[in-house]
Amino acid sequence: NLMQDRITDIGPPKYDRFFPPVIKENFGKWKYHEILEPGVLVHVAESGAEIYSVRIGSARLISVDLIREMCDIADKFCGGFLRWTTRNNVEFLVSDKSKLQPLIDHLRSRGNWFPIGGTGNSVTNIVHTQGWAHCHTPAIDASGVVKAVMDELFEYFGSHKLPAQVRIALACCLNMCGAVHCSDIAILGVHRKPPLIEHDRVQNVCEIPLVIAACPTAAIKPKKVGEMKSVEINQNRCMFCGNCYTMCPALPLADGEGDGIAIWVGGKVSNVKSVPMFSKLAVPYIPNEPPRWPTAVKTVKKIVTEYAAGGRRYERVGEWINRIGWERFFEKTGLEFRHEHIDDYRLAMTTWRTTTQFKF
Ligand code: SF4
Ligand code: SF4
Repeated sequence: NLMQDRITDIGPPKYDRFFPPVIKENFGKWKYHEILEPGVLVHVAESGAEIYSVRIGSARLISVDLIREMCDIADKFCGGFLRWTTRNNVEFLVSDKSKLQPLIDHLRSRGNWFPIGGTGNSVTNIVHTQGWAHCHTPAIDASGVVKAVMDELFEYFGSHKLPAQVRIALACCLNMCGAVHCSDIAILGVHRKPPLIEHDRVQNVCEIPLVIAACPTAAIKPKKVGEMKSVEINQNRCMFCGNCYTMCPALPLADGEGDGIAIWVGGKVSNVKSVPMFSKLAVPYIPNEPPRWPTAVKTVKKIVTEYAAGGRRYERVGEWINRIGWERFFEKTGLEFRHEHIDDYRLAMTTWRTTTQFKF
């Protein structure tokens, strides 16, 4: 069957092509796993077979030379098997126990190029989005902010000294390709101004009905400007999401003054013992400060160090905040409590924007 055998570039190849033999042989029959030391795990199968993973931190954008070096390491110690995690960590998968320590020694000999860690009660790598390098609607950069924040939190990557895991996420706009809604600490790019309308371009580069349909708050209407077909935007309804810009390049919304970072805290996904929690607003706005983002870095570090000092064992950031109370959270972190933190529904009378972050 020609169609069946056709090789395309649509979607990734089937995952089990990349399994090490020990995982193939014991698929679905794993008994337990343990973290032996920060960054080193063992998974044990019902058959008694074992596989070790050594996790290192990496960046989302890396050079081909670095990837080649990682592949050479995997060839030498792991029979060629390694995997990238959703947080851009890299795991070397070792089936031959005698190669575990030599692999760890080799990675350590390369200094901070291949830092081992990111397991258990650590700050593991930050899951993040595309930023200025690749997307069209970002309010902030992604990789740049992540690098600056992780440099400052590096001591927590290779250790287990936090009360529980701290998952940090970054999304560079509120379309939120990162896991910002459910992370212990979230860095979110926010626009604070509606799109500009380039009336002279709209009718040439945009399908106006599509643009109108793309707006989640029904803020866009058709409008004639002289002889030109264009649109108008109800500014009170606009929530600065950029969906219209995705449809129409004549509605740009990136803005030097309006764009910046909001910090959210206390989210988590569910586990067997507790329900999920949504992140809540901690800092409504920090201006863009490339290349090292000092205010955002200082703010995230302060939250982590206060949590490290005050959290109880296995208590996540959101659980710590709920126990001590939001008032004390603001006191301890020194963050300013502002009117944006008070949620209300009065805005709904004149706009559809009922959450806190639109009150600038
Ligand atoms: Fe693009 Fe927004 Fe996703 Fe960032 S979060 S990659 S700006 S859609
Ligand atoms: Fe609508 Fe979003 Fe465009 Fe505002 S930015 S007009 S809310 S689509």
